[in-house]
Amino acid sequence: MAGERISPEEACDLYSLPLPELGILADVRRRQKKREAYEGAGERIVTYIVDRNINYTNVCNVGCKFCAFYRRKRDPDHYVLSPEKISEKVAELEAIGGTQILLQGGHHPDLGIDYYLELIHYLKEKHPKINIHGFSPPEFIHFSQTFQMPLEEVLRRFRDAGLGSVPGGGAEILVDEVRKRIAARKCTADQWLEVMRTAHRLGLRSSATMMFGHVESLADRIEHLRRLRELQDETRGFTAFICWTFQPENTALSGRKLGPSEYLRMQALSRIFLDNVDNIQASWVTQGPEIGQVALRFGANDFGSVMMEENVVSAAGTTFRMTEKEIESFIGEAGFEPRRRNNWYELLS
Ligand code: SF4
Repeated sequence: MAGERISPEEACDLYSLPLPELGILADVRRRQKKREAYEGAGERIVTYIVDRNINYTNVCNVGCKFCAFYRRKRDPDHYVLSPEKISEKVAELEAIGGTQILLQGGHHPDLGIDYYLELIHYLKEKHPKINIHGFSPPEFIHFSQTFQMPLEEVLRRFRDAGLGSVPGGGAEILVDEVRKRIAARKCTADQWLEVMRTAHRLGLRSSATMMFGHVESLADRIEHLRRLRELQDETRGFTAFICWTFQPENTALSGRKLGPSEYLRMQALSRIFLDNVDNIQASWVTQGPEIGQVALRFGANDFGSVMMEENVVSAAGTTFRMTEKEIESFIGEAGFEPRRRNNWYELLS
């Protein structure tokens, strides 16, 4: 309530509070954090963005156990999108007033740096106003290895070509013991953080994520938050944090799907623990819009995105979708003022 920083041990204690009490504490923290924002209107504003997820390829040689999206090159439904095809998708986004694409893909073993740089150049030339929020840290580690180029140089060349910001995907849980069990061939926790540290140093801001509810413990989740908070103290480069629950359908990891109460509990704890991150996004894509509304009283101040297209979560069985009008009415019904934003959380008219 006093707004002080909490320790990992205190986080562990808070986690077992009755759910409504934890929600109230997170709501207090949201108000404290947003009070000064948007010329003093930050407490009552809930933002969202109109964007489109574009997955340039589904070919991936990593084989994460929680992933239902990837294909091998031998699979008949594998694909790589051309710059022209991606540009068509961006034009459809522009037609509805969208401002950003989330561009991510599998770790394709054969695509060289020219494919990516030409793609970014092409999109910036055709759609100069669209922000390219692209390529998660594991992709950058893959690029650095495949192109045999230092990470910083890869990031600099992507930035110079027109990359605007970096999504926080692929973090899952930033504890190597957990990563080995669910994504043994993906980058390590240190590598994920190093990509973000380097991106922030080069002026690229990013989001941070957490996917939980698979093989990790509560201590692992708190360690994940601790590492994010530590890097944020150093760089101030994270714009937002988003957590969501593992979706088990069509994946190689069996398990119970966590319900809303554990999702809300974790999101509330994240708001309290991550005292240096301004924005927390509600994950209604996995929880449904009604829980998204409740999440606005459990620390979230952002309703994520309209997402014209989504292929990854839906491949694992979750299909919640909303139009901009629906998003606005869900935010309004929850007692907040809906406002469109850009990637840097500036309000748009
Ligand atoms: S989560 Fe990403 S890296 Fe892992 S298998 Fe799926 S596409 Fe590949």
